[in-house]
Amino acid sequence: MKAIAVRPGTPNSMHLREVDEPAVEDVPDGRGVLVEVLRVGVDGTDKEIHAAEYRDAPDGDDFLITGHESLGRVLEVGDDVPSHIAPGTIVVATVRRPGMSLFDVIGLQDMTTDDVYFERGINKRHGYLCERYVEDWRYITPLPPCLSETGVLLEPLTVAEKAINQAFEIQRRLKVWEPRRAAVLGSGTVGLLAALVLRLRGIEVTCFSLPRPPYRNSALIEEIGGTYLSTQDADITAHGDFDIVIECTGFSPLVWDGAQILAKNGVLVLVSVTGGERTVEIPSDVINQAFVLGNKVMVGSVNAAPDDFARGRDDLVKAYAFYPGWLEQLLTTPVEGLENHEQMIRELTENRDAIKVYVQVAPRAGASSNGAAAVAAGA
Ligand code: BGC
Ligand code: ZN
Repeated sequence: MKAIAVRPGTPNSMHLREVDEPAVEDVPDGRGVLVEVLRVGVDGTDKEIHAAEYRDAPDGDDFLITGHESLGRVLEVGDDVPSHIAPGTIVVATVRRPGMSLFDVIGLQDMTTDDVYFERGINKRHGYLCERYVEDWRYITPLPPCLSETGVLLEPLTVAEKAINQAFEIQRRLKVWEPRRAAVLGSGTVGLLAALVLRLRGIEVTCFSLPRPPYRNSALIEEIGGTYLSTQDADITAHGDFDIVIECTGFSPLVWDGAQILAKNGVLVLVSVTGGERTVEIPSDVINQAFVLGNKVMVGSVNAAPDDFARGRDDLVKAYAFYPGWLEQLLTTPVEGLENHEQMIRELTENRDAIKVYVQVAPRAGASSNGAAAVAAGA
């Protein structure tokens, strides 16, 4: 079967290749689930993998199949797979697999303390940009049929779900914490989805991002009842008293702006993976004093737990009820077929208007053999 892969260590090595077919028996004890890949989203992590920044192939291979934001349909299941995952079920697989630390052993591999982590499509485990994959049912989240297209947003949504859940877990220290106001720094896919999760929890949201409104992302924030402010017009630090701040711009200096707009007892969650070496001058006395006197918290959050996938699935369903048509607008940039991997990289690196770039791996239901033309024609 076909797959999109890179040669880790070699920049710009994204290519199409033939790889072995997976089989249900590849997973022991009847726990295997064979999945037909429908679509796969790509993000900044894929950009870094393409640029050959610090990622590895699985042991014994000199290539890594990329893609970690999956959406698929079950083709076949092993004898020990529970009946809620059956042929035809729409599914999303998680990304990280257990390593060695105590946290990994108890199923919290998103909290690993190991130096090396195993992530499908990212590091040491093949990903989902291929025609079929097999996985242990314990790493698979079943979705209702209404998510058979937008379900590709579940993995990026889980990054926001974990961040927000971490905030609530930490704030149990306060016994009566009732967050009213949140700030989201960044309006990329994760920023928009974080705003959605917060709105679904009845929290006021202000989103700060670089581009001036009105444009697609600012309209999306306003459609769910949020406020959008451009950092070209508004100084973030002139705003304030947010109970939760989520930093997801990918621009690390803004962490310190985020730290300065927290309310007393507030929590700042950082989710941007920033591979650079940027340094910045900050008002450290002011920030430190406000953190100490205000009992504030700053916490990092990566990946997501199985519970975040379940909660994310439920929030996607709720989004249909509260904000019909909203999720679909995030799926801005389809790439038809694995063969078009060069277009995928181009859209990912050059298309500044794109929200979610994704590869439509399986032909769309009802599509002719010329799927791209059908889509372009609005079919
Ligand atoms: C993925 C996460 C992953 C992180 C670090 C993100 O792009 O969505 O699942 O843990 O990168 O590799
Ligand atoms: Zn990602």
